[in-house]
Amino acid sequence: MTAAKEIHLVSRPTGTPTAENFSLVERELSPLDAGQVLVKNLYMSVDPYMRGRMRENAVYAAAYELDKVMYGGAIGEVVESNQSSLQPGDIVLNQFAWRDCFVADANTVSRIEPFDREHLSWYLGTLGMPGMTAYVGLHKFGDLKEGETVFISAASGAVGANVCQIARIRGCKVIGSVGSDDKADWLRDECGVDQVINYKTCGDLTEALAQAAPQGIDVYFENVGGDHLQAAIANMNPFGRIIACGMIQTYNNAEPAPGPNNLMLIVGKKLRIQGFIVSDHMDMQEQFRRDMVEWIKAGNIKSRETVVQGIENAVGAFLALFSGQNFGKMVVRM
Ligand code: NDP
Repeated sequence: MTAAKEIHLVSRPTGTPTAENFSLVERELSPLDAGQVLVKNLYMSVDPYMRGRMRENAVYAAAYELDKVMYGGAIGEVVESNQSSLQPGDIVLNQFAWRDCFVADANTVSRIEPFDREHLSWYLGTLGMPGMTAYVGLHKFGDLKEGETVFISAASGAVGANVCQIARIRGCKVIGSVGSDDKADWLRDECGVDQVINYKTCGDLTEALAQAAPQGIDVYFENVGGDHLQAAIANMNPFGRIIACGMIQTYNNAEPAPGPNNLMLIVGKKLRIQGFIVSDHMDMQEQFRRDMVEWIKAGNIKSRETVVQGIENAVGAFLALFSGQNFGKMVVRM
């Protein structure tokens, strides 16, 4: 018998979640049936979207059930298999995060040939869902043209850092916004971002963005919402595009927050706002992986991670996303 450690949601958070909303549960796994595998997770992802799943009325993904293990992206190694297509030692992507090991039907996990075994966690970041979010958002909804100016909020994060670097590869001028000078330095010095605003120290964000982009911005990749959206709208050029990826500033609000006070500019500037969810665009996955591996090998995409050790610290890692304690992609090593 194998025992699994799992994180269960035990109550629905109001406002900012606390450790009391979660519980670490130890459970014996059942022996394998035909067609099943036992997988030991190596890394799991914590992502801002998981906050939405903690609500009773989740918007685009099913709500987590109370007193059950949560789920999400993870990468693991097959330990035992009752299915000939998977062998012990195979590396598999799966949606069985928030647990250190699990038994599941073999067809619910995806075997990958990692291009680099040293960096398996990248399949949860740059080479995984967040990287693909950046790729899909920019290519499908950005209508990017060489020489245009792109503004990105949460610019050093899992999605944002990839948006910055892909926009650079596409020949755009890139402006990012982040919450610390360390993050700003990394984007500027390592990732070639043209200008970075520290939104915590810059004073008026609309003014700071106007100074960083005197020529205006053509594309805004929205990860934050609130004052960032207002500042972007104020500085957009006519026919600008806003790619609405997420609004993390609002995720822990117990009550709806007031919106930007300048929405009428959308009319006069003839702006387009397009929301999207990456999982609707899996047809682009192969193209994304091919391009991303090529860019990584060529040194055009840099990855930064914050790695937290142990399933017992996974809740803390998740909560840290909302105060910017992650630098790059946040993952939990099992
Ligand atoms: P990140 O790795 O960027 O982590 C979150 C970051 O957001 C923090 O590090 C912090 O950076 C910033 N942040 C947190 N709270 C605030 C706040 N109140 N105000 C301003 N900044 C804040 O997360 P991801 O890259 O995984 O996600 C980025 C966005 O993309 C999220 O909105 C997420 O929901 C969205 N997303 C959407 C997808 C889709 O399919 N549409 C798929 C994946 C993600 P800093 O220190 O710079 O403030």
